[in-house]
Amino acid sequence: MARKILGYVELIWTCDSCGTKNPGAIKTCTACGAPQAVNVRFEQVDANTFNFIKDEALIRMAQSGPDKHCPYCGTRNLADSLVCRQCSADLTVGAKSRPSGMAVGEDAQPTEYEIDDSTLPPEQAHATKPLSRKVLLILMLVILIICGYFAWNTIRANRTKDIKATVVSTAWERTMAIEAYTTVTESDWLSDIPSGASAYNCSSQLRDTSDTYVPGSIENCSEPYTVDTGTGIGEVVQDCVYEIYEDYCDYETMAWVMADTVTTQGTDVYATWPDPNLTQSQRISGRSESYTIYFDANGQSYILRTSDYEVFQQATPGSTWKLAVNKQGDVRKAEPQN
Ligand SMILES: [Zn+2]
Ligand SMILES: [Zn+2]
Repeated sequence: MARKILGYVELIWTCDSCGTKNPGAIKTCTACGAPQAVNVRFEQVDANTFNFIKDEALIRMAQSGPDKHCPYCGTRNLADSLVCRQCSADLTVGAKSRPSGMAVGEDAQPTEYEIDDSTLPPEQAHATKPLSRKVLLILMLVILIICGYFAWNTIRANRTKDIKATVVSTAWERTMAIEAYTTVTESDWLSDIPSGASAYNCSSQLRDTSDTYVPGSIENCSEPYTVDTGTGIGEVVQDCVYEIYEDYCDYETMAWVMADTVTTQGTDVYATWPDPNLTQSQRISGRSESYTIYFDANGQSYILRTSDYEVFQQATPGSTWKLAVNKQGDVRKAEPQN
């Protein structure tokens, strides 16, 4: 978020000793001469109107950084002072800079101060507590048991026994997918639409936001508020983001889309591919093949499904094969026997 500076306003402070309100830039009470308290809070003269300062020297003062208090007599000095203007003490060691950066106002929240943890609701305080060792241990044990169960199952499913079987019958199927080059409707940001396509149904939509100014963007700023610079001069600022709008449109373009599938099938071991009559605006986009061999072993049926045509071609009816079969009856491996 960009912070936009609108100008500078003089703040006021209240004397602890006599209650007099003094201008922010004045460092000792105009009525009783008491030095300003170290922890004094600056206030806005009028929360609703900003009386911008035109004096360049005051503005420079506000921009030079927060004032610092003399470690010996407490007098407020400008940020770049080397010695105290009251007691001439060295300010390069031990001088404390005034707090700065917080918003000025009755309901203003300090922005650079740490938020006290004790004000958080109790649930939130507990949420960050790490898991106890006991819970972690139980969790690990549960995960271990689940992993063990799956591993045991996998081993069991893969355990096979070899049997001799005879090919009873076969089946094959080959499929081709056909795409057609045709008009389709797409949507995109106007600047991303391919040249030559004509856009329609456009509507202006928020595409992006930026922290810095972008030509053509819409500036969206918070209400102005005053920030304490620590000098008695307040900086009036706005937090701004820049919204970038662009037309989002439909357009028509040509694209390959799925149009049809053609299939050939048979029950011998000589599979062929479909031979579709393609037009100029059609193409083959994919092929798939599946082969099934039905076996018999002493009255027990087994099925092998594969996409390996070389294996399938050897499955002439009556031929003998060695099958590796698991407990569920699935054929894991099949080899023709000569
Ligand atoms: Zn006073
Ligand atoms: Zn001093």
